Amino acid sequence: MTESRFPNLIGGAWREAEQWSENRNPSDPSDLVGRFACADLADLGDAISAARQAQYAWAAASPQTRFDVLDKAGDLILARKAQLGDLLAREEGKSLPEAIGEAARAGMIFKFFAGEALRLGGEILPSVRDGIKVEITREPVGLVGAITPWNFPIAIPAWKTAPALAYGNAVVLKPAEVAPGCAWKLAEILVEAGLLAGVFSLVMGPGRVLGAALCQQVDAVSFTGSTGVGHQVLAAATGAGVKVQLEMGGKNPMIVLDDADIDLAVNCALQSAFFSTGQRCTASSRLIVTDGVADRFVERLAAACDALVVGDPRAPGTQIGPVASEAQYASVRGYIDGAVAQGARMVAGAAGSIPNQGLFIRPTLFDRTSPEMTINREEVFGPVASVLRVADYDAALAAANATEFGLTAGICTTSLARAEHFKRHAQAGMVMVNLPTAGVDYHVPFGGRKASSYGAREQGSYAREFFTTVKTAYQSA
Ligand code: NAD
Repeated sequence: MTESRFPNLIGGAWREAEQWSENRNPSDPSDLVGRFACADLADLGDAISAARQAQYAWAAASPQTRFDVLDKAGDLILARKAQLGDLLAREEGKSLPEAIGEAARAGMIFKFFAGEALRLGGEILPSVRDGIKVEITREPVGLVGAITPWNFPIAIPAWKTAPALAYGNAVVLKPAEVAPGCAWKLAEILVEAGLLAGVFSLVMGPGRVLGAALCQQVDAVSFTGSTGVGHQVLAAATGAGVKVQLEMGGKNPMIVLDDADIDLAVNCALQSAFFSTGQRCTASSRLIVTDGVADRFVERLAAACDALVVGDPRAPGTQIGPVASEAQYASVRGYIDGAVAQGARMVAGAAGSIPNQGLFIRPTLFDRTSPEMTINREEVFGPVASVLRVADYDAALAAANATEFGLTAGICTTSLARAEHFKRHAQAGMVMVNLPTAGVDYHVPFGGRKASSYGAREQGSYAREFFTTVKTAYQSA
């Protein structure tokens, strides 16, 4: 196998395929990242059978064995974070520092869940009847299907695979077609870390075929991706009686009040709206600003946007890379043109240089937008944000909550009372005060409400809700 050909990992063996897909660098279409094997339904069936067999032995392995494998995988990821980050920047387009940071996060997630393998406790309660002991324990759900998007191509596979393995499950991972290289490297690392053959398989290829089949043939499916596909996964999984967890889109608000520290507010908006090319489910795409500060805020943020360095994410000094695919490019351009047609005022984005090759879009800021504009209702998933001007905090909170999504919500204010009120009343799974809406810790729960999420939370020790099932045992004393 040469490095530019990436076969699937099925039941512990690397397997070639009849169909291969060519993935190219979104900064430079002449750069072939690799040829990736497209699994077919027979490959998927083999991965599922192997996983079902291997899962018993893995669940029976001691917590120390599971700790050792996960901890070693974490060490290997951390030791290779520079190479992994380089691949990530090349296949997905994040700037190199962001990409290396994402790889490091994946490593830390494995190390955290190594520890969780040791910490899975239970409860003993007295029975309501004499002479009986009641034990409540957690067991693996069995075989987990993980379906992941392209925008965090190593962190999201890590945050589904690591807890699944820690709690004794087998995993079949189906990464996104746009950026499967990092998931492939993760598979290679799991083999090197000594994971029992068959416990983890990697099936690359089209989601509408493989993903759709996977979510009906496992015991639990953990999906991250768009809201539309998430609903298809929900219907397929629940129809087949499969436990399901969905993390989907966002249209995250960031409120800036008159009393905000303006430097901090501009920096929070810049970071969370435009970095990672805005391709984050937690991006602040709606900036809700009270009238007293709006002119100053817009002027400062527009200037900061125009100063951002857009270019090859692996070049020193680049802050914003390309969007990840041609489809994404066309979609984001369509939202920009639509916002202009609907009367939004573009205050940053047109000016400034971009390389003439590659899928680059300058960070784009719209002012004087209204809640009914498409730009304020649909997830753009690109370097685009809009300003909604409002009279006061009450109007800002109402506007923040007036969305079908509920992933993150932020506020910039120096008022403790407002901050406390917002934490309690924002209809979102994650709330940020004087911080960007994007950028979260790896050891605490991650997830949203409304159309953004469905099912149990991911990450931190809360992940056990999804990846384990509860058993209640009664014993006569
Ligand atoms: P997507 O929904 O197009 O694809 C996600 C995954 O689903 C891919 O692996 C794809 O191959 C697979 N898939 C496609 N059709 C399928 C089907 N019918 N059945 C099963 N699987 C199928 O999403 P994307 O474009 O890869 O990622 C971007 C989206 O992901 C954005 O909406 C973003 O907000 C969301 N996202 C959410 C979170 C979160 O935690 N809430 C995190 C990152 C990204």
